[in-house]
Amino acid sequence: MGSLIIHGGAGRLESLRTRERDWSGSLSEIYSEAEFSLKRGGDARSAVLLAVRLLESDPLFNAGTGSKLQSDGEIRMSAALMDGVGTIFSGVINVRHIEHPIDLAAALSSVDHHVLAAAEATDYARRLGFPFHDPLTEERLGEYRQRLAGAEGTVGAAALDDQGRLFAATSTGGTGFETPGRVSDSATVAGTYATAQTAVSCTGRGEEIVNLAVAARVAVRVQDGAPLRDAVARTVAEGNALSFHFGLIALDRQGRPQVGETAGTRVLFATRTEAGELVNFMEPGEFSIVR
Ligand code: ASP
Repeated sequence: MGSLIIHGGAGRLESLRTRERDWSGSLSEIYSEAEFSLKRGGDARSAVLLAVRLLESDPLFNAGTGSKLQSDGEIRMSAALMDGVGTIFSGVINVRHIEHPIDLAAALSSVDHHVLAAAEATDYARRLGFPFHDPLTEERLGEYRQRLAGAEGTVGAAALDDQGRLFAATSTGGTGFETPGRVSDSATVAGTYATAQTAVSCTGRGEEIVNLAVAARVAVRVQDGAPLRDAVARTVAEGNALSFHFGLIALDRQGRPQVGETAGTRVLFATRTEAGELVNFMEPGEFSIVR
């Protein structure tokens, strides 16, 4: 039957103009569409790619169309896919003018070199036939001009399919106003990681996620025998001890979803509980978040 969890970033500091129910409505729709493909026998790789592609297309979220601008007024996007079965990480860093950075990250998983950056990554995308696409929206330009953007925003997904395959995917426009060329955590193994036991996608302050190697840390803990909830709890506690600001979504090999948040972070997520209830960050019901 499979299992899926998605996120739309760490919302509190996202866009000051967006209302919570807009995020939650979009997340629920996107969740349902990606889950439908999984339930109809689709594989975990296709499900995370579909979810992230839909999130990239939705201008509410800071990834793909609607990405935030860096301090020089340019948009540079990063994305990664982690194949927990094949143990293959692939990603793109600071790519420009394409519609779906996640598709480029996915294309890199089957060639010799799995991570490409900057202008060369964009050139590579063109050679593969990715057309020019301007991800700039009026809203983000307005935020940039008024310096209104918050500090975070990213999208991600983790999925388990009927064959027990786990995949994680993440895509981001970065923090907004960052130094041009800054590298986000999203296209590193700190922001996106998966094994045969777990899949993790992070959001929050990229530098701090890298400092703690958050996604890889959670995955290795699970691989070494910790239940996912404990692995997330320990990692969140380590983040809190350092006053770090991050959140994550994860799945274990039984398809149990988990969300973790350090103090002051709120992950915009949607998932289905083990009891079959569709939940999200606004209506979590019985779903328990590790804090
Ligand atoms: N982690 C992303 C970055 O630092 C931003 C975010 O998730 O909010 O680029």
